[in-house]
Amino acid sequence: MSLSKRISLAVLAALLPAAGAAQAAQSKSVFVITDAEGVGGVCRQDQTDPKDTEMQALLTGEVNAAVQGFLDGGADEVVVWDGHDGSQTLSSLTIHPKAKLLMGVLGPTMTMERHYSAVAFIGQHAMADVRGGVMAHSYSSLGIQNLLLNGKPVGEIETRVALAGAFDIPVILLSGDRAAVQELRAIVPGAELAEVKEGLGRYTCLTLSAEAARALIRERARAAMSLIGRVKPYKVEGPVTIQIEHTTRNSLSPGAESIQGATVVDDRTIRYSGKDFLETWTRSRL
Ligand SMILES: [Zn+2]
Repeated sequence: MSLSKRISLAVLAALLPAAGAAQAAQSKSVFVITDAEGVGGVCRQDQTDPKDTEMQALLTGEVNAAVQGFLDGGADEVVVWDGHDGSQTLSSLTIHPKAKLLMGVLGPTMTMERHYSAVAFIGQHAMADVRGGVMAHSYSSLGIQNLLLNGKPVGEIETRVALAGAFDIPVILLSGDRAAVQELRAIVPGAELAEVKEGLGRYTCLTLSAEAARALIRERARAAMSLIGRVKPYKVEGPVTIQIEHTTRNSLSPGAESIQGATVVDDRTIRYSGKDFLETWTRSRL
């Protein structure tokens, strides 16, 4: 073996582990957060029963279209969380064969510490009190009237986008009704958006067919993969407050003052403070 060949082999051997590490770093995983109220064809409250078979099929179809789109766009792994009402809507029998299904209640980090490459929303609705938002609410239409992040009204979209941002993960796609799409666009203008229905009232919508919604979502999911590394994580910097105004049926318990970082504003309203988003978010237990 010539000296130059030996040197080049040594160089190759030195490079191989680095190449493997680079490949692992480039491996792309997408975490999909699902909900029911923003699914095309879902416009009535009775359809959001997690055991409603039509809604299950509609949501599953949109989720699987997104998974296929992400795979078309180069995803190596797609993890789908069944995020609607107690995680009883999706099934491993019908989920896309190449997706992984995450079932059950998640802690405050929502598994973001797994450092996904990107986060996406499927079937998402707008925050509480938005006119034209189909069944719009913030975490609980029965329990929460209003949610404020540093004084600004927010819902599931902005809080979860900020949570992903706290882990340096960008949000690349949202499908839902027009109001939900506008909500993400306002904070992540570069994200891909799939508007599957337009709200004409809380329980009135103009919806795409399931087939058209799936085709749109698949295409946008494929395109969204190219945003990884280009669209920035959404970060809420500095000390953070999260204020929860409950509904009257969910007014505060007498001991609410003793919760760490909490200030009782009135009998229905509590404000959590912390040094950063993650600390306040964890205290709020949303
Ligand atoms: Zn929701």
